[in-house]
Amino acid sequence: STRASARDLVKVYGQGDTRVRALDGVDVDLDSAHLTAIMGPSGSGKSTLMHCMAGLDSATSGTVVVDGQDISRMSQRRLTALRRTRIGFVFQSYNLVPTLTAEENITLPLDIARKPVDREWFDEVVGAVGLADRLHHRPAELSGGQQQRVACARALVSRPSVVFADEPTGNLDSHSSGEVLAFLRRSVDELGQTVVMVTHDPRAASYAHRVLFLADGRIAGDLAAPSQQDVL
Ligand code: ADP
Ligand code: ADP
Repeated sequence: STRASARDLVKVYGQGDTRVRALDGVDVDLDSAHLTAIMGPSGSGKSTLMHCMAGLDSATSGTVVVDGQDISRMSQRRLTALRRTRIGFVFQSYNLVPTLTAEENITLPLDIARKPVDREWFDEVVGAVGLADRLHHRPAELSGGQQQRVACARALVSRPSVVFADEPTGNLDSHSSGEVLAFLRRSVDELGQTVVMVTHDPRAASYAHRVLFLADGRIAGDLAAPSQQDVL
């Protein structure tokens, strides 16, 4: 089944001489329980596509459906509620709260939405991401790779419909990148999550189930990635 889809998505920035058609009619279906990588040259529209599909930015025209709901026509209030509980976000820069422990950072989205923490799911996520012995550390006491894994756990804690990751390994060395990518893959294979990531990391393709290539605001390629056994 499909967790998020875009139909004929167009995004135009600016006007007159400075007009840029960042998305030029994009159709995408993000399948449930897939790790999808969005790749392509700088300026090809990757961030714009992700921001429009995640409800962080509105498209000029076209339709985005997330979790069965048409977010293109949704009120800001409902969109905010959807983003808090049905969509997970991972950013290049972790965006953790420095004064909170790893555990407090992970449960923060639920605390803000005043939702209870499902302890069983929390333990599953924390176990899968390999953070069980780091829960009481603050971000400054964690390596970059560990901080990004905390951010991944935070994105998953509400059991979202889709997780959007924007250059999740952009600030990490090769070893930590591998750990984060392996976790994102595990969150799909073992926890049944649906994850899409924008990335320049050439190794990311070997962790993904599917790679979408963007060029000039259009889908220029759509490949089923080789299985993990073939690659690793
Ligand atoms: P990518 O993520 O693949 O590097 P982007 O989605 O960031 O591509 O950008 C696609 C195009 O839209 C580029 O030409 C970029 O310069 C332009 N663009 C992106 N954001 C803005 C903005 N806020 N205002 C004007 N132009 C933008
Ligand atoms: P990872 O494999 O998660 O990237 P590293 O191998 O970089 O972790 O770090 C090993 C240990 O060193 C970890 O237990 C971590 O807590 C600690 N560490 C790494 N970087 C920092 C840092 N900048 N500040 C404090 N502790 C750190």
